[in-house]
Amino acid sequence: MKPEELKYPYTLPLLPYKDDKGEVSYDRLDQFVDAETMKLHHTKHHQAYVDKLNAALKDRPDLQGRNLIDLLENFEGLPKEVQTPIRNHGGGHINHSMFWQMMRSGLAGKFPAPAPETEIAKKIVEKFGSFDEFKNKFTQVATDRFGSGWAWLVKNSVGDIEVYSTPNQDSPMMGKLIPLLGLDVWEHAYYLHYQNRRAAYIDNFWVVVNWEDVEKRFTDPNYI
Ligand code: MN
Repeated sequence: MKPEELKYPYTLPLLPYKDDKGEVSYDRLDQFVDAETMKLHHTKHHQAYVDKLNAALKDRPDLQGRNLIDLLENFEGLPKEVQTPIRNHGGGHINHSMFWQMMRSGLAGKFPAPAPETEIAKKIVEKFGSFDEFKNKFTQVATDRFGSGWAWLVKNSVGDIEVYSTPNQDSPMMGKLIPLLGLDVWEHAYYLHYQNRRAAYIDNFWVVVNWEDVEKRFTDPNYI
């Protein structure tokens, strides 16, 4: 994310997927997500998080100057009346902004795992035993999330990685964890195309994972 996307007034980031003419396109992750779902997800759902986050901070000059990561990491200390909107809409904005970057187009069904020489690949093997074991664990938490939420691969404060899920739009940043890879398992993310088949949606996710982005999140503390 760009630094200005972490400050009030919040704005909807452009999607990073381009067509052959270099124009932003909703139709570039079609193996994983159809263009109609992608457009609704970005222009309606994500936009609503941005709008509601701005509305919650409109009369709060004391909070407008603080960046969103700071607000989420120090969520417990925020005034009671803004905690719920920042949790839901602040979480929704940052989760979706990162989610778009965590995927890439043009993979055509290839690239199922991070390149073995990358730091994240080495760490995944060290932690989970193999990439397949990691994938199974991530798939399990995404499948088991009852109702709406996210599955995550995160890095903690001592540099270890873990897989878990959060409900609703709760951000790992509320627990001072760094999101490396996230998957939106709200029905709005997949229902038009997959209906109730969340397992097929999760399975197709691996085709579009942007491992270069995950590697940056793992190795560069300034990358958002
Ligand atoms: Mn979503």
